[in-house]
Amino acid sequence: MSHALRQLPAVDRWLRSDFASGLCAEFGRSEVAAVMRTRLDRIRANLVEGVDPPAGLEDAAYFELLRADLVKRRCDSFRRVINATGIVIHTNLGRAPLADEAIEAMNRVAGGYSNLELSLDTGKRSSRYQHVEALLARLSGAESAVVVNNCAAAVLLALNAFCREGEVVISRGELIEIGGSFRMPDVIARSGACMVEVGTTNRTHLRDFSSALTDETRVILSSHPSNYRISGFTAKPSLKALAELARENNLLLMHDLGSGAFVDLKMTDNSAEPSIQACVAAGADVVMCSGDKLLGGPQAGLILGRAELIARIKQNPMLRAMRIDKLSLAALNATLQLYLPPHDPLTRIPVLRMICEDNASIKRRSSRALKKLIAIPGLKGCLKEDESYVGGGSLPMSGIPSTVMQLHHETIGAAAFAKRLRMGDPPIIGRIANNRFHLSLRTVLERDTEDLIGAIERALA
Ligand SMILES: *Cc1c(COP(=O)(O)O)cnc(C)c1O
Repeated sequence: MSHALRQLPAVDRWLRSDFASGLCAEFGRSEVAAVMRTRLDRIRANLVEGVDPPAGLEDAAYFELLRADLVKRRCDSFRRVINATGIVIHTNLGRAPLADEAIEAMNRVAGGYSNLELSLDTGKRSSRYQHVEALLARLSGAESAVVVNNCAAAVLLALNAFCREGEVVISRGELIEIGGSFRMPDVIARSGACMVEVGTTNRTHLRDFSSALTDETRVILSSHPSNYRISGFTAKPSLKALAELARENNLLLMHDLGSGAFVDLKMTDNSAEPSIQACVAAGADVVMCSGDKLLGGPQAGLILGRAELIARIKQNPMLRAMRIDKLSLAALNATLQLYLPPHDPLTRIPVLRMICEDNASIKRRSSRALKKLIAIPGLKGCLKEDESYVGGGSLPMSGIPSTVMQLHHETIGAAAFAKRLRMGDPPIIGRIANNRFHLSLRTVLERDTEDLIGAIERALA
C-alpha cells in the first residue's frame, strides 16, 4: 500500500502536465489544484480501504473527470429549462414566466441607476412603493397597497403589524400548508399573534367565530384553500359575513388569498378562483396575495387595504427586512400595466395566455411538433387527450382539457428517456404516466418549440 501511495502524483507535478495547463487557463490554477487535491484525498482514502487507485491518472480521460469536477465546483447550475409538464405555475420550475414588457422593464433598470426612491419632480427622496401603489389600488379597488418579497412575508408582516400579542381567530378548515415551509399556525406564532382555532375541519359557522371573540381578539383571519378543497358535508361563512362580524366588533378581517388573480378565471362551474377585487369588495380589510401565481408577475407579496392600515404596515420595521428589490418592482410595475386598457391581460400575460389557450390550438401545435419528433430514429409517439393544471396552489381541482405528445423510445425506457431530456441542453421537463413519457406544449412558449425539438434530437443522438 505504501508503495501505491508513493506512486500517486503530487499535486505540483500533476499541475505541470500539458493537460493541466489547459484547465488552468480556463478555470485558474488554484481551482485546478483544489479539485486535484480532493481527487487525491479520495484515492488515498480508498487505498487505505483496499481499493486500487484508478489507472491512467495522467491521461486525457482522467483530465476530463477533473474538468467535470471543475465545472461542478463553479456552481454554474442555475439555468433555463423548458417546462413541458403542462403545469403552468410550476413552483419547482420558477412559477410565472414574465411578459416581455416585464423583462424589458427589469433590463432598463438592472445595469444602471433608476429613480427607485427619488422623486424626479421635487428631487427629494421618495418611496419605492409609489411605483405600484396607485396601480394596485386602481386594479383592486382597495384604497392603498404595499408590496413585499412574497405572500408569506405579507402574511407575517400584516399579522405582526395588527395582531402582535393579540388573538387571531381562524377556522380549523383553513390552517393551510403551502409546499411545506409555509404553515399557517407556524407563521401566526412567528408573527407574535396568538392563534385561536374555531369550528371543525369540514364545517365552521359564523357563530363559531363570534363566540370565540374576547377582549384580546384583534384579527379574524381567513385563508384561501389554495391547494386543496374540502368537499361533501361542509360549511363556512362568506367573506362578507366575516367582514360584517369584524366591523361590528371593531376587529380587522385579513384575507390570505395566495393565488391573487385580477381577472375572472372561471374554468369550470364549481371551482372559480376568487378575484382580488371580489375579496376587497366583500369587505376584507387587508387582502394578501402572491405576485407570481395567477397575477403572472415576479415573486412578490401584495398587501391591499385601507390607507390608514397600509400606513401602519409601512411603519413596521419588519417591512425593511422584507422589502421588494428594484428588479422585481420594475417587473411588477410593467406587469400591472398590462392589466390596463387597451391591453388584454389574457393574451399579454404568459400564465393567463397558457391557461386560456384552447385545446384545439394546443392540438395543432402538438401535431406539428410530433411530426418532427417521430422522424427521429427510434422515437415513436402519438397525441393523447389529457389535462393540464394551473399549479402553484391555484385551482387544484380543475384540470384544463388539453393534449399531450406521448412518446416512447424503442430501446430507452421511460425513466431513462426522461433523464436524458432533463440532462439535455436546454433541459426538457416532462411527465411520466403509465410508463410513457408525456410532453405538453401548453406550457411551452411558441418560440421555444424548435429548441424543444432540437434538444430532444441531441439528447437521443
Ligand atoms: C402561495 C400561498 C402563500 C405563499 O405565497 P408565496 O408568494 O409563495 O410566499 C400563502 N398563502 C396562500 C393561501 C397561498 O396560496
